[in-house]
Amino acid sequence: MSKVALVPVGSTEQHGPHLPLGTDFLTAQALAESVARKINMICTPVIPVGVSSHHRQFWGTLWVSPDTFRRYMHEIAIALGYHGIRRIIFVNGHGGNSASLHEVSQKLRLEGIYAVLYEWWNGPSVVELQKKLFKSNGGHADAIETAMILSLQPELVDKSRVREAAAGASEHWGVTKFGGQLPVDTIDFSRSGATLDPREGTVEAGKRVRSAAEDDLIRLARWLEKAKQQDIEASSHLA
Ligand SMILES: [Zn+2]
Repeated sequence: MSKVALVPVGSTEQHGPHLPLGTDFLTAQALAESVARKINMICTPVIPVGVSSHHRQFWGTLWVSPDTFRRYMHEIAIALGYHGIRRIIFVNGHGGNSASLHEVSQKLRLEGIYAVLYEWWNGPSVVELQKKLFKSNGGHADAIETAMILSLQPELVDKSRVREAAAGASEHWGVTKFGGQLPVDTIDFSRSGATLDPREGTVEAGKRVRSAAEDDLIRLARWLEKAKQQDIEASSHLA
């Protein structure tokens, strides 16, 4: 049995008028399950609610506090560790979870569990590909997310509302003033809940992005499986 577990985690939150609330957990779950099948690794059930209070004014958004989220993810990792699985990949589908998952991973390392944060949009193959596929990148409910869901579950995309999503979308995520980051919610800067233009998203593009994301995740998972214990442990300064 593999000693590495993939833990898909996402959110249930607004993704503009055209994408499902489950966009972030559906993509994380699909990638993790597909990769686990291909390389015979363990995949836990998906964690579908994360840190999303900044989307709360839009209907259907659910959230937990970062404190609750960190504790929950930490305890899942401890449970895996109890079964002898001390190498984990958090397959994250939601940017709002990133800071918390990073903190949890650092804490787990002190406790003898090595957890790596993988986010599909940051993988090298995906970064390279998305520059070729889309004019705009780095948004929310944008072209790449629309493409992902179109290729996974097209019946969940309301194509009649993509134009509305684009019309009310912001050009940037968040608001900065004189270099300061304002503590805004999504509704403060985006009328539709989207950032950047979702209209470039197609089924074909989604298939290519998924395949690139799987390549990245497979490489990472294989590395983690083969890494020697001394390579992932912090060395002692005093040794
Ligand atoms: Zn998303």
